[in-house]
Amino acid sequence: MGVVIVGSMAFDTIHTPFDKRERVIGGSCIYASIAASLFDRTGIVGVIGDDFTEDHLKTLKERSIDTDGVIREKGKSFFWEGKYHLDMNTRDTITTELNVFENFDPVIPESYKKIPYLFLANIDPPLQLKVLESMEKPGFVLCDTMNLWIDIKKDELKKVFSKVDCVVLNDEEIRQFTGKPNLLQGAREIQKTGPAYVIIKKGEHGASILGPGSFYFSAPSYPVEGVIDPTGAGDSFAGAFIGYMAAKNKNSDTDIIKKALVYGNAVASFTVEGFSIERLEQVSMRKIEGRIEAIRKISEF
Ligand code: AMP
Repeated sequence: MGVVIVGSMAFDTIHTPFDKRERVIGGSCIYASIAASLFDRTGIVGVIGDDFTEDHLKTLKERSIDTDGVIREKGKSFFWEGKYHLDMNTRDTITTELNVFENFDPVIPESYKKIPYLFLANIDPPLQLKVLESMEKPGFVLCDTMNLWIDIKKDELKKVFSKVDCVVLNDEEIRQFTGKPNLLQGAREIQKTGPAYVIIKKGEHGASILGPGSFYFSAPSYPVEGVIDPTGAGDSFAGAFIGYMAAKNKNSDTDIIKKALVYGNAVASFTVEGFSIERLEQVSMRKIEGRIEAIRKISEF
């Protein structure tokens, strides 16, 4: 069926309590597209500077990820620096340099326009809206965001939410968006803004999804003991979720939606086992299936 993903393509400097990496490849679009490409044909929309070499794009091309929607501009690529707390779950942003991202004007290639699955990864909400409006009636749209946009562009974000099928947020973002301490109440409130489904990501504690009527499903994360770098876990979760949905192409089948969530958890569990994409890019379907089985074993009774 195919997936289109719009998001950031970045260099990240990451500090954990135990180690540090400088200017490694990152960005929501990078993590999400590698994850989605494990399941289905994936095309990306993003912007890079002249410091983003062909070698950096090689990882994507090796996975047959379509980069026709990537624009190269003069200047530096988007740069983000973050520092994780001891819990390896919460983090502080130290630096955000928009660089070529500042004037990003996404252009959707003709060959993408009819692709039915769209993931609006974390970027400025008006740009998410522009991409959404450039597509020809996508069948299923997933949307992510971050605390920054909830802070400064909440109205634009609400407009995006009103036009998508599913929103994926972490616990903090749900509380920030709604002011509700209870996550279920918060997710319901977000559902009222438009999306039929709301995914609640809870880091190492797994993810839940709330849907129409009484639909609710929760699955644990795969228990990783050696978390190295959580960056991109949310993006790879979402990429795997929409990639699985696209591969199955049955949007209202709740069994498929449940499985998509568990595949998201399984893929994200690999991302956190290394810095940047170093673990994610080595993942095979056989390894993913192994983790799916492990998640099943720890949660069935
Ligand atoms: P995650 O850990 O899944 O929330 O995603 C982390 C990725 O988000 C990093 O690779 C960053 O480059 C990227 N990122 C951080 N801030 C922004 C932003 N303001 N807009 C877009 N992407 C961002």
